[in-house]
Amino acid sequence: MEVDKVLAGDTFFTTRLNDVIGWSRKFSIFQYPFVTACCGMEYMAVSCSHYDIDRFGAGLPRFSPRQADLLMVVGTISQKIAPVLVRIYEQMCNPKWVVAFGVCTCTGGFYDDYATVQGIDTIVPVDIYIPGCPPRPETVLDGLMKLQKKIASQKQAV
Ligand code: SF4
Repeated sequence: MEVDKVLAGDTFFTTRLNDVIGWSRKFSIFQYPFVTACCGMEYMAVSCSHYDIDRFGAGLPRFSPRQADLLMVVGTISQKIAPVLVRIYEQMCNPKWVVAFGVCTCTGGFYDDYATVQGIDTIVPVDIYIPGCPPRPETVLDGLMKLQKKIASQKQAV
């Protein structure tokens, strides 16, 4: 039997394979932190051993977008920095996900002005929104678990 026929459609084999790949991917998240403002303090707090994000497989940040699959956007995004954010997103390989960390990235927050991007979903697709100014570490962990659930349940590209 040809491999492409085996992998075509929702057969028992492909759905189980999809589950296994989804399970693997949700525990191997490599973050690229794009940190611009005060939310960065909370991001660093979450990264400390106290909150142990290694248990979610997300403890190892990468500082090249080409090695990362999660773009963690942390802090206010100005119109001036927006093209850089888009460029970094485009440099990441698929599959990739984006988290908006804090109200400034979700909606622009307090900065309802011409100089600030009014929500990063106007320039890149966002998978998870984490509210708060800044978000509590527990809220960030909740967002991370929601992202894991989303990764595991989606159709996996192979
Ligand atoms: S959400 Fe609050 S803490 Fe985070 S970058 Fe905006 S102003 Fe700073």
